[in-house]
Amino acid sequence: MSVPPRAPPMPTVLSIAGSDSCGGAGIQADLKTFSALGADGATVLTAVTAQNSAGVRAIQIMSADMVAAQLDAVFDELDIRAVKLGMLAATATVLAVADGLNRRRPPHVVLDPVMTATSGALLLSEDAVASMRSHLLPLVDCLTPNLAEAAVLLGVPCATDEAQMAAQGRALLALGPRAVLMKGGHAPLAEAVDLLVTPAGTQRFAARWVETGRLHGTGCILSAAIAAWLARGAALADAVAQAKAHLTATLACR
Ligand code: PLP
Repeated sequence: MSVPPRAPPMPTVLSIAGSDSCGGAGIQADLKTFSALGADGATVLTAVTAQNSAGVRAIQIMSADMVAAQLDAVFDELDIRAVKLGMLAATATVLAVADGLNRRRPPHVVLDPVMTATSGALLLSEDAVASMRSHLLPLVDCLTPNLAEAAVLLGVPCATDEAQMAAQGRALLALGPRAVLMKGGHAPLAEAVDLLVTPAGTQRFAARWVETGRLHGTGCILSAAIAAWLARGAALADAVAQAKAHLTATLACR
């Protein structure tokens, strides 16, 4: 009897993010996304949230020491091919994560700069934005802000058209990330337009609008999917295109 060839091992992606008790966003959404896209998942939990679609009821932030301990335990054992960063909650967490990434240097880092929940709750303290800007952005391969997050990171008003989105993407590039995916999901545009801004230029991705109502976790799924495709060896623009297709397909089933 011939032995079937062994399947190539799945790449492992690390999610550093918060927990969403209802599973639609955060670390739970990330793990489901990795698994759907053929990647294995490891986690560093930054905070526990008690929430449902009506709102966030309570948040408990992990200590910076606990974040660093989880990160080191993962990197000491696993070959991490990409890291996805989501809810980082506090300045001490941002600094612990930046320190860990500096020491471990994973091949790809995707940062979804989560600031508020769709229901309005604050998921990143206001004082943590400065350390995200100075310590984390230079370590990031792909930053995936929505328009409100881009505006906060730059200290400017929200973009309202594609030209402003592209200009803000270029301004964010100057802060250190290798690429910026400006997500126009909340813009008053005819289509859902995202712009991938890199030093080589700007690439446009458009998709039809999908009504999501109070659904949260769309940013988590998109950034986790980009990380999964990068871990599988895709070039960034292909990873973004595949991740958008995965998000559209996932939303259609919800
Ligand atoms: N991370 C956690 C733990 C959350 O609870 C949320 C939203 O509630 C998010 C991230 C951000 O979700 P979204 O993808 O809707 O921006």
